[in-house]
Amino acid sequence: MRSEARPVPWGEGATLAECLATATRQLAEALALPPREARLEAQILFAHALGVNRAWLIGHDRDVPPAAPAIEALLLRRLAGEPVAYLLGEREFYGRTFRVTPDVLIPRPDTELLVDVALEHLPPRTSHTLLDVGVGSGVVAVSLALERPLCRICGVDLSAAALEVARANARALQAQVELLVGDGLDSLSGRRFDLIVSNPPYIAAADPHLGQGDLRFEPHLALAAGGDGLDLIRRLVEAAPGHLETGGWLLLEHGWDQAGAVRDLLHGGGFSGVFSARDLAGHERVSGGHR
Ligand code: GLN
Repeated sequence: MRSEARPVPWGEGATLAECLATATRQLAEALALPPREARLEAQILFAHALGVNRAWLIGHDRDVPPAAPAIEALLLRRLAGEPVAYLLGEREFYGRTFRVTPDVLIPRPDTELLVDVALEHLPPRTSHTLLDVGVGSGVVAVSLALERPLCRICGVDLSAAALEVARANARALQAQVELLVGDGLDSLSGRRFDLIVSNPPYIAAADPHLGQGDLRFEPHLALAAGGDGLDLIRRLVEAAPGHLETGGWLLLEHGWDQAGAVRDLLHGGGFSGVFSARDLAGHERVSGGHR
């Protein structure tokens, strides 16, 4: 199985424990990860390459791994910075596994707050109409569809490639979501909803974070939005009243330091009940108001 042309970095006949130790060291160095995190990543990548779980790895640490070239290929890609979620092709969100590809933003734990806040505005056993603008991989729309099966949910995205991923996720998780290609609310003329949610791109174009870590590999379209990062949020706040039922809510995710600016935009747009909610790190991460 092992290729002679491309020797594994840890040498012939190394045990799983030795390979994991080498990979952990390399990951910690290349990605500036703390050792615990590097070890966890090494285990996740090895388990994926070998088609086993992490418990199996621990039980077999004296074995010589059977698929060394597959492990090495995955490790080299990670060492070059490719995000773990893209290497695995999946990520957990709101307790479910979603497929992700480089066509979509990698789901962030922060975004679970947007789902929580939306659910607070959707009493169980009520049937409301919902719209998710910039549906991406579909994590928000699909999670809401599964938590509130009586609601009618529509998702729109500019990227047809992203919608394919959302469609695959909706199918795999058996969620009923209407998915449309379009440029935000402009593509939905005449339609009104009880609730509009969005995790729009909100990073300022010159933010140095765009050149670091996972963000280098994610679709620029899903991340950056103009000089101050608020271009898309401004557009949404302006257009949303024309697509909301009376009393309907607009709920937006935004950057950790943008809550004040987003609340100002909502007030300026004539929204009532304007508020912000904090994420697990204590940052105001979601803001909203109603028509
Ligand atoms: N709604 C998707 C998510 O929350 C995509 C967001 C985006 O592409 N900006 O992951």
